[in-house]
Amino acid sequence: TIDQLAKIRKTHLNPALTTYYSKPLALHQGHKQWLFDINGNRYLDMFAGICTVSVGHCHPRITEAVTQQMQTLGHVSNVYYHSKIHEYSKRLADTLPANLKCIYFVNSGSEANDLALLMARAYTGKFDIVSLNNSYHGMTYQVMGMTSNNYYKYPVPGGAGFSKTMNPDIYSGIWGGNKCRDSPVQTDRTCNCVGECAAGLEYAKQFENKLNYDIPKNNIAAFWAESIQGVGGTVQYPKNYIKIVYDIVKKQGGLFVADEVQTGFGRTGEHFWGFEMHGIVPDIVTMAKGIGNGFPLAAVATTPEIAQGLTKAAHFNTYGGNPISCAVGIAVLDIIKDEKLQENSKEVGTYLLLELAKLKSQYPVIGDVRGKGLMVGVELVSDPESRKPLDAHTFMRFWEYCRDQRLIVGKGGLHGNVLRIKPPMCITKEDADFTVDVLEKAAQYIAS
Ligand code: PMP
Repeated sequence: TIDQLAKIRKTHLNPALTTYYSKPLALHQGHKQWLFDINGNRYLDMFAGICTVSVGHCHPRITEAVTQQMQTLGHVSNVYYHSKIHEYSKRLADTLPANLKCIYFVNSGSEANDLALLMARAYTGKFDIVSLNNSYHGMTYQVMGMTSNNYYKYPVPGGAGFSKTMNPDIYSGIWGGNKCRDSPVQTDRTCNCVGECAAGLEYAKQFENKLNYDIPKNNIAAFWAESIQGVGGTVQYPKNYIKIVYDIVKKQGGLFVADEVQTGFGRTGEHFWGFEMHGIVPDIVTMAKGIGNGFPLAAVATTPEIAQGLTKAAHFNTYGGNPISCAVGIAVLDIIKDEKLQENSKEVGTYLLLELAKLKSQYPVIGDVRGKGLMVGVELVSDPESRKPLDAHTFMRFWEYCRDQRLIVGKGGLHGNVLRIKPPMCITKEDADFTVDVLEKAAQYIAS
């Protein structure tokens, strides 16, 4: 029962591991886009284990790939050749443009960004790292300094949000403007990737000024950005912002790192990689989550020249790219292609965004609907004009109502008032309809 689980949790799991919902949800089984709790209730999973279960829960082809691999060769470490890591690295490299052909496998998104940080410094011989306001790049001790998101402030040297004072080599929280509500974008509601506006240029100019002010000339090792900010509340950049910032960073001799942990593997629909929507080719790409459908697998892709920098020091990783995770990775790529899941992300995602926009026009609690493909954010507000965030208590009522209606969605954003919708990419239009229907009922429920 829940009580028994709660007791074990309290005694044996670190209390830093907080759970969703006032009444925890104890899950037992998954199938495609559905989850089942320990009492057998079925939920539509529109959060996919935090944007991770890309091809559906317990996909039989992944089960088959893992089983076969486990029966053949489970683990040897990276000091030997094994065929799966060779096969998979080539397959993965084939999805990437230009010269991004050199892969290093790790086990989580944080680890991927941590390694990319080392690569950038080793290659450039420079130290300063710049990330954006409202970003999330992970929780290893070094990387948390780049995670500028408000929720993750640790009062320890190098901790997230403390990076500028405590860790002088990492400048998190730079994007240019200073009036942002959720992000660079949210200062001006007409500004987003699909809208035409001058803000991209303006913010990029401010970015350059701030860069010049904060960072000793030519000392930037790398700039980091998610292609759409995920944990930050599905935040898109002003048009051309990333491209202009990319040029500024490159001019100063820094590398551009694209954090594709959430936006990769077809989730944004139009492109396989999120950075493609910005018309850039990064120097380093970090990836996790959707890459392994929940299996602990992540990777850093870069050019052979940059990869060479890492050979200056011995670098090692016991599990990264083990035969089983590579078998999973290959199966995920095959399934995305065979089941046309990127195309489905585009089609169902576009439909969902349109339906949610209709809802927004009817319910003032919905202050903004945004995103691309199956990476969607719904911002809940107490005033549609000022977009003042919905108070935490009412937000919780809205969100828990969804759960009671058997709909699982995430939450995030600078003020914790954005519903995050990032389902397995196999969902259908009927699932989108169900989601919109529950959100509509939730809007009525909190108004009643
Ligand atoms: N980058 C981004 C964009 C993320 O969303 C996350 C996880 N939310 C990470 C990195 C860190 O990944 P992990 O939790 O696998 O370490």
